[in-house]
Amino acid sequence: MERFSGRRAVVTGAGKGIGRAVAVRLSQAGAQVVAVSRTQTDLESLQEECQGIQTLCVDLADWEATEAALSTVEDIDLLVNNAAVAVLQPFLQVTKEAFDRSFNVNLRAVLQVSQIFAQKLIARGAPGAIVNVSSQVSQRAMLNHTVYSATKSALDMLTKSMALELGPHKIRVNCVNPTVVMTNMGRLNWSDPQKSGPMLSRIPLGKFAELDDVVNGILFLLSDQSSMTTGATLPIDGGFLSS
Ligand code: NDP
Repeated sequence: MERFSGRRAVVTGAGKGIGRAVAVRLSQAGAQVVAVSRTQTDLESLQEECQGIQTLCVDLADWEATEAALSTVEDIDLLVNNAAVAVLQPFLQVTKEAFDRSFNVNLRAVLQVSQIFAQKLIARGAPGAIVNVSSQVSQRAMLNHTVYSATKSALDMLTKSMALELGPHKIRVNCVNPTVVMTNMGRLNWSDPQKSGPMLSRIPLGKFAELDDVVNGILFLLSDQSSMTTGATLPIDGGFLSS
């Protein structure tokens, strides 16, 4: 039997990058997937790539639109909170707009979508698993990452708080903390060898993560193979955080 047969999963930010790869792998492993993202054409191409995936187009920064969209989704067992924006600005130039958008997408939407998901699970009396996609920068300062890393640091703590309060309802909540992955977001911020070189030299394994490295970690934390793990922050960082 396929690993996720009979399970229904929501993946946010599934139009591109890590979220898209998670949606495809979950679908291939037998899950019924609801892919949530902001750009309709990305969702259409995902459906062409992987038939059977359902899609929801919504801007997760919009509280009311998110509530309306997500409340139509029933019987979900698994949730991957992956959508995020990375607006890089030096600390002295951080803008209110960047701060608000980053916290609304990277943190507030995780709380909101998880509340909707958990309330429905609790009402059904069903167990569930949530994986939040954090980052290595939740635990290390990096130039120009003030707002982004603050959202991810708060996300690590949100994960632990959710694990504490949802554990009695048999809902596990964990996060993954990847190093750089060359998605659109990764390329935008790390293509310049003057930036990537010093970063690579701080990673004991000497390389950035591949999409599959991150997807494998997420699928492990969603699966029953991690049934005793909750509240964890799993580095997928080639050793960056331990050095
Ligand atoms: P991408 O920018 O490649 O993809 C992000 C996806 O999220 C896109 O489909 C995007 O849609 C969607 N999204 C963004 N904002 C919203 C929103 N407001 N509402 C709905 N969907 C939205 O990013 P990655 O795949 O690289 O990143 C995925 C996750 O991994 C993020 O949480 C990121 O912080 C984390 N991460 C990434 C690393 C990297 O180096 N790439 C390293 C560590 C962590 P659209 O394009 O239409 O806006």
